[in-house]
Amino acid sequence: MEVILAKQAGFCFGVKRATHLAFEAADKKGETYTLGPIIHSPQVVQRLEEMGVKVLGDVNDADSGTIIIRSHGVAAEELEAAVSKNLEIVDATCPFVKKAQEHVESLSLAGYDVVVVGDADHPEVQGIVSYATGRVYVVGSGEEAAKLPRMAKIGVVAQTTQSFENLKDVVYACLAKGGEIRVYHTICDATAVRQEEAKALASKVDCMIVIGGFNSANTKRLAEVCSELLPRTHHIETASQLDSSWFVGVEKVGVTAGASTPKWLIDEVLDRIAEIDREKIG
Ligand code: SF4
Repeated sequence: MEVILAKQAGFCFGVKRATHLAFEAADKKGETYTLGPIIHSPQVVQRLEEMGVKVLGDVNDADSGTIIIRSHGVAAEELEAAVSKNLEIVDATCPFVKKAQEHVESLSLAGYDVVVVGDADHPEVQGIVSYATGRVYVVGSGEEAAKLPRMAKIGVVAQTTQSFENLKDVVYACLAKGGEIRVYHTICDATAVRQEEAKALASKVDCMIVIGGFNSANTKRLAEVCSELLPRTHHIETASQLDSSWFVGVEKVGVTAGASTPKWLIDEVLDRIAEIDREKIG
């Protein structure tokens, strides 16, 4: 079988940075915590746990030690609580998420009502919203934005994983709502690039393997876009979940991985596919 690995498979810049900072902090020993899982990869979280890093649901559960802030950030109050408790802070918030938080704060301080384009339930959005000091609205689409009240000054930012089209739809709807609009393009293209590449790959192979946490929204989306083009798409977290029956009659296999999937998991999957191929020949 020919196995083709997508060029952008696996860690994006922000997740690579956060993971590096987390393992560096874990190496220093001492009490170390993350607020929620550091990234959406149960295997990375487990490795950190084996090194003594505990996952906390609430900053108030730590009285001392080091706290690592996850890649998609936390709410301003949680960060303030960590500072007031004198915890050592390793801020692994992705710089792109940080930028969105900073824009919300500065827009609010400048008197703008803020519109955040994104999923209100997502922790990244909850973190971004928490930096507003005035009125703030979260909208998921242009239709939702059309229902907003009229505002004198509107500031728009987007969750980093939103599509450019959706941001455009919301901005268009906001044009009918206010006299002055300031828009910050806070979308990171890591997700879109992975999806485009995965689609191109799925259209030229017989079977697609998508690796990443079952709790990772970007991996699930990758698997969905591939499945739409190629029903023989399988979403797995680890090599042990590969099933040799998936490769019967297959000549070309495409492999991709979500932005929170570490290289070691990808390598294990590639090794196992090679093994299955040898068993087929044997
Ligand atoms: S997807 Fe983009 S914004 Fe999110 S962590 Fe990765 S680089 Fe940062």
